[in-house]
Amino acid sequence: MTKECEYCGQQVRVPNDSVDGWEMCRCAEARQRQRYESLVLEGAELIDEIFAAPEEDCGFAPVSEYGVDMLRGIMREVAQQNVGAVTVGLPDGSKAAMRINGSGELEISRSKRRKIANSTNAH
Ligand SMILES: [Zn+2]
Repeated sequence: MTKECEYCGQQVRVPNDSVDGWEMCRCAEARQRQRYESLVLEGAELIDEIFAAPEEDCGFAPVSEYGVDMLRGIMREVAQQNVGAVTVGLPDGSKAAMRINGSGELEISRSKRRKIANSTNAH
């Protein structure tokens, strides 16, 4: 069967009815959309691994469901390049950072810089 690409209007062959025309089209707009959708799928997995996983698995306390949803929303904006690199402070003091790197890949990280401060105290 074929379906119309919503970007260029071309009829493209699709494997089944659940696949949209743009998913198979090779026009520039469709390819951009395909790229975005695959970044979002991979990004959602990365977010689950880094922010929703139990502490034993990722070394950080899991973020609330609301927080994970918020991070997914930010990730979509980064993937669509509506924003550049984003850093978000989380309640446990760690930081979530997301960006599209030079190879067009989505990079997501979580860090917690431990700061040890000390001062001499002259008596
Ligand atoms: Zn197209």
